[in-house]
Amino acid sequence: MSAALEDTHGRSVSYMRVSVTDRCNLRCTYCAGEGVNFIPHPNILRYEEILELISLAKSLGVAKVRFTGGEPFVRKGFGEFMVDAARQYPDLDLCVTTNATLIGEHIDNFVQAGIKRLNISLDTMVPEKYAAITGRDLYATVIENINRCLDADMTVKINAVAMRGFNDSELPAFMEFATENRVDFRFIEFMPVGLETGWKDDLVWKAEDILEEAGKIVKLTPVTQPGERRNGPARMFAIEGGKGRVGLISPYTNHFCATCNRLRITSDGVLRTCLFSDKVYKLRDALRHPNLGIKAVERIVRAASRRKPIGHELLERMPAGKGGVCRTRMASIGG
Ligand code: SAM
Repeated sequence: MSAALEDTHGRSVSYMRVSVTDRCNLRCTYCAGEGVNFIPHPNILRYEEILELISLAKSLGVAKVRFTGGEPFVRKGFGEFMVDAARQYPDLDLCVTTNATLIGEHIDNFVQAGIKRLNISLDTMVPEKYAAITGRDLYATVIENINRCLDADMTVKINAVAMRGFNDSELPAFMEFATENRVDFRFIEFMPVGLETGWKDDLVWKAEDILEEAGKIVKLTPVTQPGERRNGPARMFAIEGGKGRVGLISPYTNHFCATCNRLRITSDGVLRTCLFSDKVYKLRDALRHPNLGIKAVERIVRAASRRKPIGHELLERMPAGKGGVCRTRMASIGG
């Protein structure tokens, strides 16, 4: 292995998120919205190029790779690619974030390939609200696919973007779901990423408020201490008498920049070292250039990782209440 990636703040990079497409079959208002322009196909990294980048990342100390999107399963051949990648890198922690609307036919393949964990995005327990926020009437499909994953003994984490005035009234239903199902139900604070997402400070349903309100419905016991990274940035809580657990991810009110270990690669091969920064490093052109290739990419990744910013400093400089700490929409970055 070459020397691991370290930044000037003493953090080391061990986790890479790879967006395989910027296209999505949903139009979540807080993420993408309708009427977006998609990246033309030739500009999207080919699967072989993604594998090259994963090999490089692995040689630089990355131990975990998460595929994301857009919606990864919208891309042709993604299910098969995921299985191939899992077979090719058995010692990498490979996982995927999905809206679970299209995974039905892939579940058996995943289990066979040893992919046992899925992060599934679901922001409401009300079918009509699901249709309203995503633009598609697919709530029943998502629930059916969650059940199929659980029946196949997979580990399922549900991620819900916590938004005041949208899903805060559903806390009892969320707690009931997490009590009755073997899932980690995680609330993610609504982040001011991207323009035109309708983000406003008072729409953020803050993690501490969720915890206090949930504590009146179920008895919660911490299973990690604040700052511990056993579950990534989530603070996890057991539910007394419940099958599942509750998690809180608080990038807005209680950032975890000091322990951030992530790089993000977008579907057009752009490296981002911080979700809250618009600074980008173009890897695809170097990778495709006949005189540059993967060695040049390695130099860029090393230099970029060293300069990884502390995101909350950017958040603090954001014009009050306006959002758009970074201009690019989350659907293009991959969350
Ligand atoms: N299509 C996949 C999915 O639905 O999970 C992967 C891509 S999606 C961009 C990744 C995650 O980002 C989802 O969990 C989504 O809810 C979250 N997300 C998008 N916009 C967000 C925002 N403004 N604040 C917090 N989370 C957001």
